[in-house]
Amino acid sequence: MKQSQYNISVEQNGEVFIYNGVSGALARVPKDVYADIQKRSADGGENLEAPVEILERLALGRMIVPDSADELAFLERRYNISRGDKSRLSLTIVTSLGCNFDCPYCFEAKHPSIMDADVQQLVLQVLKDKAQELKTFHVTWFGGEPLVGKKPLLTLSDEFMKCCESADIAYSASILTNGYLLDEETCSQLQARRVTSVQVGLDGPPDVHNKLRPLAGGKGSFWKIVKNLHTAISFFDVSVRINVDKGTFRRIEDLLRLLADEGLAGKVSVYPGQIVGDNVNTSAPSATYEGHCFTNPEFAVAERTFFRMAEEYGFATPSLPRPTGAPCTAVRATELVVGSKGELYKCWNSVGNRLEEIGNIRDYQNTNGRLRKWLKYTPFTNDECRSCIALPVCMGGCAHHAMSSNNYENRCGTFRHTYQEQVSAYVQSATSHSGSGFLIPPGELSRRIDTR
Ligand code: SF4
Ligand code: SF4
Repeated sequence: MKQSQYNISVEQNGEVFIYNGVSGALARVPKDVYADIQKRSADGGENLEAPVEILERLALGRMIVPDSADELAFLERRYNISRGDKSRLSLTIVTSLGCNFDCPYCFEAKHPSIMDADVQQLVLQVLKDKAQELKTFHVTWFGGEPLVGKKPLLTLSDEFMKCCESADIAYSASILTNGYLLDEETCSQLQARRVTSVQVGLDGPPDVHNKLRPLAGGKGSFWKIVKNLHTAISFFDVSVRINVDKGTFRRIEDLLRLLADEGLAGKVSVYPGQIVGDNVNTSAPSATYEGHCFTNPEFAVAERTFFRMAEEYGFATPSLPRPTGAPCTAVRATELVVGSKGELYKCWNSVGNRLEEIGNIRDYQNTNGRLRKWLKYTPFTNDECRSCIALPVCMGGCAHHAMSSNNYENRCGTFRHTYQEQVSAYVQSATSHSGSGFLIPPGELSRRIDTR
């Protein structure tokens, strides 16, 4: 046996904690046993004295693997299986390209357009066509602002639920919303349509947020969103995405304090989002975001500061990344982004961009040549990815950025730059939990796919 090349270890209070990206597991091992394993793996694992149950645990968590194991080949196989998996369908559906906000950094061309009944029927037909081979179906409601298109969202949800029930398909949904229309009635309607997780955007304390995420027409939106968060937490897992650049980051603590004063710490999760150069609509007359975008390594460091601060205000420390098969809809063969007029895309960032359409829902199996670049994308031809410790949890990151000459570096997840700090921070927050063995058990993905 040898140690996995994707182990990250942290020593604390006489114990060693080993995280493995391929399984996503985090194991705790006595320090002397770990030292023995390290020493012996140098001589091919001869005469290991470590207790069998610890070795078994490390093998289950993929922290030790057979000498002959080719972990890179395994990850490549897992990537290819995941991206072509026909038993799961995931659609991102834009019910309204129009939006009630006018954010200066928004990348979308937001023509008002609500998904009509014809397009809804065609979307439903995609599910019906594939139903026989499906085990799971997930919808991400997306916009513009998806709740501006609440009517089609509810109608389609009802149809999806009916179809999935009769075909024995597990249905689930999530929504990305600006939060302004997320009142109690809407929460209850969404919950009844199996929406379980909601992502809402807040970009700073009221003065910053209202400048960056104003209502169309310019009025502030901050307090209405906070009021809606109080309601939403009784219905869903709520995460608050806080887009940051170097200027707004200086005001993050004000926002975290305010949310904690509102009693939302521990009830919503918070995380920073990187504003990236080509996402910014520089032609917008109100492009008022201050400061400059973080580079990817700078953002990774800022993210650590963010989570340290958030923890001080009572927000939960995020868990460690789970293993990823294929990173997003853009590179998974069976997944689509459906625009409000039935136009099809592969990437969330393409919505509203005619030059990125890959076809139309009216003839969804007959896509154009633009699909090819997404399905050709692989981290396994890239030397940086092949030697990257974050590969099992990242799998090539954001293909959209990887294909852009300006934003190539922004394709990476933050784990690449701060993996040691991330594991340390998690271990620190989790070691108060008693017991031995796994602090995080191996992920479903790692168990599901054969590793021979
Ligand atoms: S973090 Fe960057 S280099 Fe590493 S696998 Fe992801 S995209 Fe590739
Ligand atoms: S390619 Fe990047 S922007 Fe597009 S959906 Fe994937 S992660 Fe998102």
